[in-house]
Amino acid sequence: MTETIDFAENLTNVRAEIAGAARDAGRDPASVTLVAVGKGHPAERSRAVLAAGQRVFGENRVQEAAEKWPDLKAAFPDAQVHLIGTLQTNKVRQAVELFDVIETVDRPRLAQALAREFDRSGHQLPCYIQVNTGAEPQKAGILPEDADSFIAQCRGEFGLPVAGLMCIPPVDEEPSLHFALLREIAKRHDLRGLSMGMSADFRIAIAFGATLVRVGTAIFGTRPAH
Ligand SMILES: *Cc1c(COP(=O)(O)O)cnc(C)c1O
Repeated sequence: MTETIDFAENLTNVRAEIAGAARDAGRDPASVTLVAVGKGHPAERSRAVLAAGQRVFGENRVQEAAEKWPDLKAAFPDAQVHLIGTLQTNKVRQAVELFDVIETVDRPRLAQALAREFDRSGHQLPCYIQVNTGAEPQKAGILPEDADSFIAQCRGEFGLPVAGLMCIPPVDEEPSLHFALLREIAKRHDLRGLSMGMSADFRIAIAFGATLVRVGTAIFGTRPAH
């Protein structure tokens, strides 16, 4: 079966929904950035989405990004790629070369490794701190009760350029509670960036102040099975 996907149409629809959700929330649609998540899809699909005008993308694996993005960035030099998956400390150097934003700073050892690599390379990337708002054991992210001290440590001791916070709510829970919690923690630290909301819930996330929404399926279609 060959799946025909009209990426330009999907993109237009998602952008219209983002703009509508922003206006409903009394926000400027330009205050919400769409991160198109092409993980698990072949590079040609990201190329089609780039050709349709999208410039900000998300990938969850360093290896997959290394296979796809050098060529895509050569063709579209203004494209930006966010890391939205767990980063192993031994891949920090490669990640800092490949990505434009790190959304998943979730533990002191990683924060320290990033700080060292930024120093060594002279190249700093905006960082988001991932908060495990549902305190799920299998999920990455700093626990909510440790978030305040970790944010302070990242900015103070490690000197990371912390742009905001990121969360992935539990699949079986009302996401708005998690979005509200993330917003509250960000507010305490005067952080403007909120990366929250995926295909199923980005409209709600925008109502709760999301500045980055990470949308995969609604743009790229269903991910191929591995
Ligand atoms: C896969 C993924 C997304 C996109 O999910 P969709 O439901 O396909 O929109 C967003 N954020 C993260 C962290 C992901 O891993």
